[in-house]
Amino acid sequence: MRGYNFKYNILYDSEILEYKPTEVYLEVDYNHSIIIPKKNDYIYKGAIIAHNKGEIKNYTYSPISGNVIDTIDKTNEEGNIIKCLAIENDYKENSKERKGIKENIYDYDKNSFIELLRESGIKRENNPIYLDYSISNINYLVINAYECLPYVKLNSSILYIYVKELLKTIDVLIDINKINTCYLVVNANDKLLIDKIESYIATYINIKLVKMNINYPFDNNEYIIKELINIDYHNNPGSKGIVINDVVNIYNIYHLLKHRKTFNYNFLYVDGNINKPKLLKIKKGTPLIELINLLHIKDNSVIIANNPLNGPHIDVDNTIVTDSLNNLIILENNNDISSSCINCGKCIKYCPYNIYPLSNKNINKCTECGLCNYICPSRIDLCNKIKEIINELPKE
Ligand code: SF4
Ligand code: SF4
Repeated sequence: MRGYNFKYNILYDSEILEYKPTEVYLEVDYNHSIIIPKKNDYIYKGAIIAHNKGEIKNYTYSPISGNVIDTIDKTNEEGNIIKCLAIENDYKENSKERKGIKENIYDYDKNSFIELLRESGIKRENNPIYLDYSISNINYLVINAYECLPYVKLNSSILYIYVKELLKTIDVLIDINKINTCYLVVNANDKLLIDKIESYIATYINIKLVKMNINYPFDNNEYIIKELINIDYHNNPGSKGIVINDVVNIYNIYHLLKHRKTFNYNFLYVDGNINKPKLLKIKKGTPLIELINLLHIKDNSVIIANNPLNGPHIDVDNTIVTDSLNNLIILENNNDISSSCINCGKCIKYCPYNIYPLSNKNINKCTECGLCNYICPSRIDLCNKIKEIINELPKE
């Protein structure tokens, strides 16, 4: 197989660093949403801030209690400006959600489960997750915990730490939804995680642990499903009776079944040029600058979002933590000097599409995976070169 198999080397830390920010900035689509609070209103933790106007409700909840400051422009990790409702944290965590803890999370039927999920605000790839589970016949539940990139270990870290709770939740999902087959997919080289799962999985006979060895950039859901059950689902797994969740989704569902209230945190995995990798449990909409100060990240660092090979470099000053920011990669800014191409052929060898990024042949097939950029011994910024070449191609 083409692509690249990164050396696997990870030590899990079972510590989670929890952080409560001075204020949060909640992204709201002002054109298509009903916004509930006004400036200076007092907001309870867990209160609805906004929901869309359509039939399928997508809720935004407040992760803190405090007063609404105003509407303020912030940026997401891609550098795009987003309109946010700013709330000042009073650190009281005042909440009106008091439903108590559910001792037995098996104690739901399909209807009560979907109802709970519908109100939960839990999303998968920006869509309410209850839609995934609303299909009548779920043949396959696939939990994708496969990670193969350096410094990207959010899902495997959460699974390592909460393995007991998460296996139980997957079993509950199988039970409630009468699912025929369930796969939990992990990286075959991740011995620590596999040992941990195997020490708890024996009682869960319906969960099949699958150890895969896939080269980057083939670690996506569509490719994994094709390898696993030989089905092409073309962007719509539900049409083939498949539900695919990641570990964060399962953790959110676990919290919902157990506490019957919204989960007000995001997880963020931070690795790279820091003392020790950190799994952070933080409030949605936390200003990134507060985390950078908390982690004592050096001034000359480059901070990359989500993927060390092709993720955007973050300008931390005005950026907030959004649902789509899962990993922060901290690299030393060593101002690499590039030299000329030495025709080593490595970029072509590892590119999934056999592309030489300095020519325009087949360049339209490029998925911007960043592998050539990473592999090039001359440190040529090939991603930028590809963009320049594509921009110069005649427009169709
Ligand atoms: S040319 Fe494009 S698809 Fe090929 S390795 Fe480079 S970024 Fe990835
Ligand atoms: S990897 Fe870099 S140096 Fe080697 S052929 Fe490709 S562009 Fe040239």
